[in-house]
Amino acid sequence: MHLPTSLNWRKVPWSSTPYSVTLAFLKIEFMKKYVVVFLAVYAVNCLAQETVGLDYYLPQQINYDTSIPTPASIIGHEVGEWHVTHDKLMFYMQTLANSSDRITIENRGRTFEGRPILLLTITSPENHGKIEKIRKEHIALTENGSTSMTLEEMPIVVYQGFSVHGNEPSGANAGMAYAYYLAAAQGPEIDKILDNMVILMDPSFNPDGLQRFAYWANTNKSINLNSDSNEREYHEVWPGGRTNHYWFDINRDWLPVQLPESRARIKTFHKWLPNILTDHHEMGTNSTFFFQPGEPTRVHPLTPKLNQELTAEIGTYHAKALNKIGSLYYSEENYDDYYYGKGSTYPDVMGGIGILFEQASSRGHVQESENGLLTFPFTIRNQFTAALSTIEAAKNMRTKILSYQRDFYKGLREEAARNKTKAIVFGDHKDAAKTWHLAEILDRQNIKFHELKEDVSIGGTNYKKGSSYVVPMNQKNHRLIKAMFEKRTTFTDSLFYDISAWTFPLAFGLDYNELPTLSNAGSEVTDFKPLTGAVTQQSTYAYLFEWHEYYSPKALNKIVNKGIRAKVAQYPFSMNGSTYDYGTVMIPVQNQELSSEELYEFLKEVAKESYLTITAVTTGVTQGIDLGSGDFEPVKKQKVAILVGSGIRSSDAGEIWHLFDTRYDIKLTKIDTEYFSRTDLSSYTDLIIPSTGRGGSLGKADAEKLKEWVKEGGTLIGYRTMANWLDKQEFMDLTFKKDTLVAKNISFGKKNDFLGAQVTGGAIFEAKTDRSHPINFGYKNSTLALFRNSNIYLKPEKDSYNNPIQYTNKPLLSGYISEENLNLIKNSVPFKIKRLGKGRVILFTDNTNFRAFWYGTNKLLMNAIFFGPMM
Ligand SMILES: [Zn+2]
Repeated sequence: MHLPTSLNWRKVPWSSTPYSVTLAFLKIEFMKKYVVVFLAVYAVNCLAQETVGLDYYLPQQINYDTSIPTPASIIGHEVGEWHVTHDKLMFYMQTLANSSDRITIENRGRTFEGRPILLLTITSPENHGKIEKIRKEHIALTENGSTSMTLEEMPIVVYQGFSVHGNEPSGANAGMAYAYYLAAAQGPEIDKILDNMVILMDPSFNPDGLQRFAYWANTNKSINLNSDSNEREYHEVWPGGRTNHYWFDINRDWLPVQLPESRARIKTFHKWLPNILTDHHEMGTNSTFFFQPGEPTRVHPLTPKLNQELTAEIGTYHAKALNKIGSLYYSEENYDDYYYGKGSTYPDVMGGIGILFEQASSRGHVQESENGLLTFPFTIRNQFTAALSTIEAAKNMRTKILSYQRDFYKGLREEAARNKTKAIVFGDHKDAAKTWHLAEILDRQNIKFHELKEDVSIGGTNYKKGSSYVVPMNQKNHRLIKAMFEKRTTFTDSLFYDISAWTFPLAFGLDYNELPTLSNAGSEVTDFKPLTGAVTQQSTYAYLFEWHEYYSPKALNKIVNKGIRAKVAQYPFSMNGSTYDYGTVMIPVQNQELSSEELYEFLKEVAKESYLTITAVTTGVTQGIDLGSGDFEPVKKQKVAILVGSGIRSSDAGEIWHLFDTRYDIKLTKIDTEYFSRTDLSSYTDLIIPSTGRGGSLGKADAEKLKEWVKEGGTLIGYRTMANWLDKQEFMDLTFKKDTLVAKNISFGKKNDFLGAQVTGGAIFEAKTDRSHPINFGYKNSTLALFRNSNIYLKPEKDSYNNPIQYTNKPLLSGYISEENLNLIKNSVPFKIKRLGKGRVILFTDNTNFRAFWYGTNKLLMNAIFFGPMM
């Protein structure tokens, strides 16, 4: 028997380690030279802390193949001794894959910061030899004709992902020991696992976040480990490592698939349709260990009951394994299985079983907790143990879980054929790009859709070919379509771990109808083409484009940044048989800095990059306001800043940064709250202050500074909780609608449920709009679906023209809200504007940029930026 020890890495000869992939800082020459130094550092550490060896994690009584490099032999430290950086993690996984015939590795893409998104495929060498055959047979199990397939020889597919929240690192660090185990363990037990299983291992669900957190924990580590929870090591600076580059929670993106990390893994998911998918997280330091199933009453109704029963049976394996190492745990409470955008819930609507693990976080290297000293290695060992108990369960329950998947899809086929609704049509005849982006999600989710056969009016709504699609309901993933398109307003529970509604056509602000036949479906879209744009022809007079297209702000920004004069129509008009709505942009040809020819060339480029049609016109005469009318208001070049940093909600700020940077190509200066008071604002036209977090950090002096800047012509745009601050600092005089809720017949034991039921965690509401107000330019309908996850309710202004967006009398479109809050939201207003000197103060009580997929209300922010001075 050979067990690796903490010093085992010295035994691996450097020359035998494959270095086909090198990192600049880990060049072999460098390593050779500094082996002695590493040893010295190691010795010092030993004096200060009890460094655990690899054997701390690994199952005992097993032989390990000595030709397989241990993590320490490659990355220079033991698992759990330091927080592994993504670079080192990647390097180890690549080295391991090069050393083991059980592992192959692929790079599926790049994060925003350019890190590879790796996937390890782990199975027996024999299975590797026929991996594509295995995959095809596995997929065939979910297709028609699967009933005749025999499950006896069929491997089960397990997808294991780690640390989607970068500052929950025990998962990713455990992954090294786990991958080592799978590569190096010897004997009949591991052979049986590898013969009967294909393990898809995603060593880091969030490379950018993991790197950011590792940097924090490591740079604050002392030789004398300090478990004092006040120690800086356990208090990351803003925005923390939980999120990805643009501060998104990647574990909310499994359904909308807007981020590169999710795109890679959703592709893998559809390629393999795994039977089990595990998601390794961390929670509060004083907790223990959680594994699903979660709260039984908070399972999405589209998830089969058997899914939860199998989850519970798998849970018995986790319990047994954790009992063995003496770790405390719990199950069936706290976490839920409702929102399909989470990694542990998404598989449940796809015939798989998603499992959430939550480990109490040491955050840094060791921290005091209610359960005694919580060391980083201890947290890693629990994750390692759960990873192993997962495959133990998968091995023993293999045929049962495979037949569950087969039956799930068989049931789905029967269900799909019974659907009364045969198709869903969605679109916006004024906005092809927004429509295209919803179709793009369907494409990424392996959902089939068709072109619209021809322009048609359904129930008074016009659908245009090219900016509408038809989704047939009789198809494989129709339950996923239901999960994406349905509206739901009744619930068995009033508590939600995350949002309670995400109805995609509402999020995109698109028209949609259910269809009783497939008669409107044209040909299936099999080659989903990118968006295009063009200028109709060269003009010597003027160019026009309507404001409805999603990317029109991108175009306008490019135009004004080039120094080209552009004006915006304050009223609709028509000419040459076409109607032009509020907000149409007009670019005169004469007296510009570019010649007529240059302007045409430039606009061609703008149209192409912004995916819209720019129309050339030869006259200023229209029906309605003529092109030379004073009702065409000039638009100025904008210089926009956003307040970020401590006190600001990073998710809200990141959504705005992402919107400007990746969609609209608009430069956005991020000013940190730390130096805000010393910043000269005079060159900025707009300042956005996202929702503030705990307490916020803006004081009276900041308020005075901002007021002066607004009076000089600045546009201040505040979001959500900024309502309170703007009111308190007398930027606006707001009247809040409140309910004094009193608990009656509620016991102490039910207090949390009672209070929790008042939380509006995320639901969708309808507002009516005044389309003549510049805040609503670019919206063709007179109602708007808004996402809301706050309880701020504002009374409308006395004068109706000052309430351009107002919630209707029956505002709930989808999701959960308490009766008390529903009464408050009725007829309240989510938008306020006030003139102050030459400037404007604008407030949105709702998030118009939610999680990068709420395309429908992005334009409200753009209108505030470009048209603020017109309001
Ligand atoms: Zn987490």
